[in-house]
Amino acid sequence: MTVAPQLAEPVLDDLRQVLGDEHVLTGKAARFNRARVPAPFPVHRWAERVPDLVVLPGSTEEVSEVVRIANAHRIPIVPRDGGTGLTDGAVPLRRGIVVDVKRMNGILEIDEVNRTCTVGAGINMLKLNEVLAAYGLIYPDDPASYPCSLVGGRIGTSGWSLIGSRYGHSRDLVLSFDFVLPTGKVIHVGDGAGRKLSKSSSGYQLKHLFMGHQGTLGIATEATLKLFPKPEAELSPFFAFPDYDSAYRTVGELARAGVATFAGAVLFDEWKVDYLRRDDEAYIPQPADVRALVCAVAYGYEDEVIAGGRRLMRIAKENGARYLGDEVSEGDWAARHDRYATPLHGRVRSGQVVPMSWHCEDAAINYSELPQVRLEWHEIVRRLRERFDMFDDWGMFTYTSANTGVDYLTEIDVGIWEQRLDDESWAAWVRAKRDIAEVALRYGGSISACHGSCREGEVDLVPQELGGGYDVMLDVKRAIDPNNIMNPGKYGLDRAYEPDGGSGS
Ligand SMILES: Cc1cc2nc3c(=O)[nH]c(=O)nc-3n(C[C@H](O)[C@H](O)[C@H](O)COP(=O)(O)OP(=O)(O)OC[C@H]3O[C@@H](n4cnc5c(N)ncnc54)[C@H](O)[C@@H]3O)c2cc1C
Repeated sequence: MTVAPQLAEPVLDDLRQVLGDEHVLTGKAARFNRARVPAPFPVHRWAERVPDLVVLPGSTEEVSEVVRIANAHRIPIVPRDGGTGLTDGAVPLRRGIVVDVKRMNGILEIDEVNRTCTVGAGINMLKLNEVLAAYGLIYPDDPASYPCSLVGGRIGTSGWSLIGSRYGHSRDLVLSFDFVLPTGKVIHVGDGAGRKLSKSSSGYQLKHLFMGHQGTLGIATEATLKLFPKPEAELSPFFAFPDYDSAYRTVGELARAGVATFAGAVLFDEWKVDYLRRDDEAYIPQPADVRALVCAVAYGYEDEVIAGGRRLMRIAKENGARYLGDEVSEGDWAARHDRYATPLHGRVRSGQVVPMSWHCEDAAINYSELPQVRLEWHEIVRRLRERFDMFDDWGMFTYTSANTGVDYLTEIDVGIWEQRLDDESWAAWVRAKRDIAEVALRYGGSISACHGSCREGEVDLVPQELGGGYDVMLDVKRAIDPNNIMNPGKYGLDRAYEPDGGSGS
């Protein structure tokens, strides 16, 4: 194996001493597989993004030792959990060491009295909830990537949950965590002196700083999470509409109604309905007059879900909705974690099935701005398709983020025939992503509600979104990671190390 000079034998020996030979991986497959992320990936440039080696630590102490060694030798570190992130956060842009924390997947404590559990960063929510079910409890962080994203990655991205309008998102559900700083120092991040407070007013609110940084500030190793009673009932009525406007009106009224069990609502626009009808084998076909769909979701005790559900049904019907029946409603919601699980979807082109992979561009948008953002986004993808036949518009989903319906995770899904990508089409795709982000900002939104915003294209606009806050980000990065070893190259943070500290003066 050829490794970077700084990863010569003495460093490898040190790492093997800490972790044991079997947890220091230098083979091609181990390294290439940990460079890849879900679509779209510039397959033609894969070799540029491969780490020099992969380590599999089993404890906070081992993570800390690995980071100390890397910091001493100025070797880049990239934290990696499930590798499902959609903003290239776990892609090693400067090679170095990928720290894969999947071995740290234990449940260390379930505290039934305070309703918390403490887990390793490498556990996924599906496995955790299988164990919690026996206690009548649930950890309700429920992304579409529920079976394959892990608790540490949820912290690294500050993830968004499908049922967040009822239970909150990762940032609300993670109470505290152990965290290895870029120097190797271990701190505990969260409110209070223990692990289990949800609210304190003491000092800076560091939990929010150390979430959503895409692994640029350190590595979370153990987390304490908030638990809820496992819901007795789940209601997910599915409604059909003849046009987008009535579906849009309905989703707003459902979200603003103040029903306590309301866990979220999803709007499918005409492009999405067309795509599902055409390409998604799991989708139950709807009659041709169905042009838009809304799904509302309620969780809780059976009696309260029935009462709240009646109100949600009434609101939808008053807006011209047609209820699609229990089978479609329960079936579609049950499939929420599977819809994109297959990375390659077949798409018929001139009688041939071509393999297209899914990609989604997400943003946080206020309710009032959704219709206009939608039109502008579809137009950007239309222009892209006009030039290159390896792209396709798979429509838009719009999900409530909060229980008042103030803002929505809005995503446009783009099908990409990845094997066809070359430098020219890749550059056009990056440009389109930048344009999509620009629209979100122009309408007062955020480039991302869910995945983060450090991919090529959108990342250029992060300083614009954050304003003076971006300068603070540069200062924080330099102060916490003096040698720029933690996931370098992300969020344009390398400029913090320029002589002028990134100020440009
Ligand atoms: C099919 C599909 C559906 C998805 N649906 C959703 C959704 O509904 N909601 C949503 O929020 N996201 C969704 N995503 C995106 C993705 O699942 C989330 O961003 C998730 O939080 C990433 O978790 P992961 O364990 O895969 O992290 P990774 O991809 O391994 O890492 C993500 C980022 O966090 C950093 N990181 C990883 N581990 C740590 C750690 N221990 N400490 C500090 N930083 C760390 C990495 O360096 C990287 O920057 C979806 C992705 C796919 C493929």
